[in-house]
Amino acid sequence: MKYKLDKNEIKNKLLEIVSSDQLLIDSLMRDHTTFRIGGPADFIVFPESEEQLADISAFCKSNDIPVFLMGNGSNLLVRDGGFRGVMINTRQMNTVVTEGTRVTAQAGASLRAVAQEALAHSLSGFEFASGIPGTIGGAAIMNAGAYGGEMKDVVAKVHLMTADGRFETVDGADCHFGYRQSRMRDAGEIVTAVELTLTPGNADAIRAKMKELNQRRRDKQPLNYPSAGSTFKRPEGYFAGKLIQDAGLKGYQVGGAEVSQKHSGFVINADNATAADVLQLIGDVQHKVKAQFGVDLEPEVITIGEDTRDEN
Ligand SMILES: Cc1cc2nc3c(=O)[nH]c(=O)nc-3n(C[C@H](O)[C@H](O)[C@H](O)COP(=O)(O)OP(=O)(O)OC[C@H]3O[C@@H](n4cnc5c(N)ncnc54)[C@H](O)[C@@H]3O)c2cc1C
Repeated sequence: MKYKLDKNEIKNKLLEIVSSDQLLIDSLMRDHTTFRIGGPADFIVFPESEEQLADISAFCKSNDIPVFLMGNGSNLLVRDGGFRGVMINTRQMNTVVTEGTRVTAQAGASLRAVAQEALAHSLSGFEFASGIPGTIGGAAIMNAGAYGGEMKDVVAKVHLMTADGRFETVDGADCHFGYRQSRMRDAGEIVTAVELTLTPGNADAIRAKMKELNQRRRDKQPLNYPSAGSTFKRPEGYFAGKLIQDAGLKGYQVGGAEVSQKHSGFVINADNATAADVLQLIGDVQHKVKAQFGVDLEPEVITIGEDTRDEN
């Protein structure tokens, strides 16, 4: 990819918006994703405010520089050649405040931190999300869910930046939440903050529920290996993990990537897997499940970046 500006000019322009400790150059995406896979991103910026976010986006847009918005990278597979463009990481925008039953979190707040805030205020309804390793922005975009709960149930309002740079607030009911879907995802909008409406509850009961759900996760999921969670969406009328297991693919390996022995719905990075290993394994699993059961498995994990890096 050839930029209109040279890389040094891009760096200097970004440093007019953010400070040097908010900018990484050529940093490996394996250090920024839960899969621990991925080549270098040309630039990663960590905005601390909506103004910085807007300025970075406007600068990239006017110079035709590709932008990708990420939270905790817990649903991402970045290819081995890395990412050409500016990766905007929301992790520094992470304030969480509570007023009554309303918890408002900036996009980069971790779901764990938001769940702890709800617990501290004896607010119930967010326990389901406490063990999902993402940010609230990523969870809103994906309508993340677990154990019978989903973001859709608790989101009162989403604050966002539209693709053309306007800030808007949208009611939860207008977010068109579906299975791992939202209007923000469809429209390429950036979530800047999320307001949740929760229910007054009992702190001990909330804590006990979070503990129980997290224990269930540890019992069922291969949390001791890097992964991006469930690799495939749940196909209508089936469970992806069961189909994969029934196809005899439990423990199936390509290079360092493996269908988890503990939970066949998870592809794990068992031993220095490359993105190419994971993508080949995903393709093999799709092919075999289709051949045996006639079911199409659609990845839930989002793949970005390039296979190789051309010098620019
Ligand atoms: C061990 C493990 C367990 C998991 N369990 C679950 C589970 O139970 N349920 C579940 O639903 N998911 C689960 N996941 C997947 C993942 O944690 C969720 O999808 C999570 O919501 C992703 O959040 P993130 O901040 O990491 O997003 P990222 O992975 O960084 O990004 C995911 C997508 O969201 C977009 N995005 C992120 N932030 C923003 C923003 N502020 N504005 C606009 N777009 C944004 C990105 O562009 C990308 O398209 C699990 C993952 C792991 C590793």
